[in-house]
Amino acid sequence: MMKIRRYLRGSGRVLAFVFIASVIWLLLDMAALRLSINDGNSQLLKDQIIKEREVFKQQNRVTQGMRRGFKHPVQRLDFAVTHAAGKGPLDVSLKLAQVYRQGGKKQDQMVRDKISLHHQEGKVHVTEPPKNVVNEHKGGAAPPKQDAPAKNKAVDLNGTKLEKSKVIDDSIKVKLPVVVPNITQVPPGKENKHAKKGPIKSGDAVQNAQDKIDLKKDEKVKDEPKTKKESRPQAEEPHPVKVTSKPPNKDVKGKEVNKKIEDKHIKATAKSDVKAAKETPKPAVKAKAEEDTKDNSIGVRKTGVHKVLSLDVTNAPRNARAKGQFGQAARVASSEDAEVRKRWDEGHFNVYLSDQIPVDRAIPDTRPDMCAQNLVHDNLPSTSVIFCFVDEVWSTLLRSVHSVLNRSPPHLLKEIILVDDFSTKEKLKKPLDEYMSQFPKVRIVRLKERQGLIRARLAGAAVAQGEVLTFLDSHVECNVGWLEPLLERVYLDRKKVPCPVIEVISDKDMSYMLVDNFQRGIFKWPLVFGWSALPDDYIQKNKMTISDPIRCPVMAGGLFSIDKKYFYELGAYDPGLDVWGGENMEISFKIWMCGGEIEIIPCSRVGHIFRGQNPYKFPKDRQKTVERNLARVAEVWLDEYKDLFYGHGYHHLLDKKTIDIGNLTEQIELRKKLQCKSFKWYLDNVYPDMNAPLVKAEGLVFNRGLRKCLSLQKGSLSFETCDLSKQSQHFNYTWMRHVRQQDLCITPHNQGSSLALQVCDNAKSDHRWFHKSSKAALAEHLIAEFVSHHMCLEAGADGTLILNPCETMSAFQKWQFTNYHA
Ligand code: UDP
Ligand code: MN
Repeated sequence: MMKIRRYLRGSGRVLAFVFIASVIWLLLDMAALRLSINDGNSQLLKDQIIKEREVFKQQNRVTQGMRRGFKHPVQRLDFAVTHAAGKGPLDVSLKLAQVYRQGGKKQDQMVRDKISLHHQEGKVHVTEPPKNVVNEHKGGAAPPKQDAPAKNKAVDLNGTKLEKSKVIDDSIKVKLPVVVPNITQVPPGKENKHAKKGPIKSGDAVQNAQDKIDLKKDEKVKDEPKTKKESRPQAEEPHPVKVTSKPPNKDVKGKEVNKKIEDKHIKATAKSDVKAAKETPKPAVKAKAEEDTKDNSIGVRKTGVHKVLSLDVTNAPRNARAKGQFGQAARVASSEDAEVRKRWDEGHFNVYLSDQIPVDRAIPDTRPDMCAQNLVHDNLPSTSVIFCFVDEVWSTLLRSVHSVLNRSPPHLLKEIILVDDFSTKEKLKKPLDEYMSQFPKVRIVRLKERQGLIRARLAGAAVAQGEVLTFLDSHVECNVGWLEPLLERVYLDRKKVPCPVIEVISDKDMSYMLVDNFQRGIFKWPLVFGWSALPDDYIQKNKMTISDPIRCPVMAGGLFSIDKKYFYELGAYDPGLDVWGGENMEISFKIWMCGGEIEIIPCSRVGHIFRGQNPYKFPKDRQKTVERNLARVAEVWLDEYKDLFYGHGYHHLLDKKTIDIGNLTEQIELRKKLQCKSFKWYLDNVYPDMNAPLVKAEGLVFNRGLRKCLSLQKGSLSFETCDLSKQSQHFNYTWMRHVRQQDLCITPHNQGSSLALQVCDNAKSDHRWFHKSSKAALAEHLIAEFVSHHMCLEAGADGTLILNPCETMSAFQKWQFTNYHA
């Protein structure tokens, strides 16, 4: 024992350590060897897990964060200034609005700087923004009372039934979903004085509005020179009443330059307007009068114009020091955190805080400066504002309604329709009826069973009396001057579908936040909605300012105006879409492909609370509901591009046994009847910056081991010396993961022991092969998808084609296509 100790004390200790260390080293080495033996398989497993995670993430992205779930990027503002206080409430309001707008101006300036950088020679002139437009918030403006509060109680018209099929106009028969709403409304004769019957005269329009704001006569512009910028597609369309401070000579010059560099894609869509642009510039109003006779205008119009009404009843708020007033961030004491958490799930935002903020709070006017100077026509069409809701939070629903009442010209607001999609909260029943009975323009439609937002909107549209339908979410705040710029676009062309800029109301502190400029709605595969800024070169080429309408490939969904007749001509929404999701894609593709246009109008701004989750229940599985809706859209509208949809993680939807997407006959017929353009046309003309290759890879299929190419001749596969000119050697690797030539697919046969050719079938998983060109384990392999143990396509030494267990290093299992697109 002593001996051992002695050993361990001296050099023996070192020896012992060396011995133990080498044993550990040996063990680790063996483990590593084992790992490397299993390398192929474990890598494969890893790959598989990563792939599955990707698919899951993708699907989650689609179904969780869809549409308005993605906020616009928010502009950072100087916190100290936006929170300026103590100098009196109106002062704060003014300051805030200015700061917000300067936030916008900074951006504007940034773009201008960029533009001038690109045109240093000064050859291209850029519109100067009007200098310091004073904001419209005025002290001592109209008190915050609602228009003509009616003492009379709402009369319950319970039992009013909608026919299942209702003729909306002579030519179009609109099929309504099976919805039997009860309608609560004010009896005839007790209407608001502004809600005039019959056509609105231009004089009346202005007169009515004068109740609220002082419209100076000298602001009326008669023969304003046509200052639209012919160079950009939007501006080529009638837009005669816009005022910019651009000197006329520069403008004309700019037109010439830009006409040449015009985007040819977009040009094709606006031929008639290009023709018009070639004519000598006419005075705006005159040009408009001629356009009025065009098919797309609503009836015969008078040509009077006025400055956008910056009407805001909340200019002098009831309580300037109330929480969240002027759209400022509000806080709750930390002792109330538990309460905040407790009530969060009621709406998936800070419901506790929202309930403490006035339902008619003021918010900063975030429009770009020039917006307040824009002119719109006196006789714009009237609109029905439709809010659908299911179990909406009381305070946000009320705030939404108040914001419309307080900031819309009364003569243009025909009514507000609240469609209750079978809410369960008691507060949204009688108490809501009672509350809304003070507003003669508000009607409540109650659905007898849960329909989902798509069919709820259809039910609202079916009873709407305005010429234009304006859909809004039930947790929004409409900003100053929001309505007229939207209606103006519809007035100019009834096939235009304008959307406001959707700003962000913080789900945490309820502050109203300005968003980045030049944002438009787009989609990524597999039909995931997102925001993206217009490409810089597009902005420069078209000399866009921050207040110009923006062509929008896909609308966010919740907030837009549309001519009611046109909505029905388009077949409204596909009523087969359930609950929520995909309907924004459907209506966007439909509008663009069938002759309309979607635009974002920067002079119209509406705040929206973006929630992390839907706060309401889905009658069926949420994910499945959204997937099913999207599959319907893909099947009807995407043509051959639907492969890209399914190919991005939705292969399982092709298995008709697991999912029933319902009957599509009517939707397909409708597309034919409307003679809508192809999805390819949409991609080329509306969303040219979208990358949508129809196949993942194509060309020759080169085997690295054999150094020969696959060939298909007389129904059998063989290898040949590679020759690009031989069609027999051309294959596609598709989004369905098929290796195919024409309609024939290479597929494993006899439990994977041999290979065969079969007519390709999207629903058959044994026709699918995993293939990655690089950066993956088993890169360049063709891995049969249907066999549970991994089997790879291999070139036998004798030139046959076989399936063998995958081996990372085997050159005979490595295949290269000539071109990879995805
Ligand atoms: N909605 C509805 N019925 C439904 C789902 C939604 O009436 O089954 C309403 C909802 O209350 C909201 C609007 O439709 O006013 C849009 O829904 P949401 O705000 O959840 O959509 P998001 O903004 O998240 O895209
Ligand atoms: Mn919403």
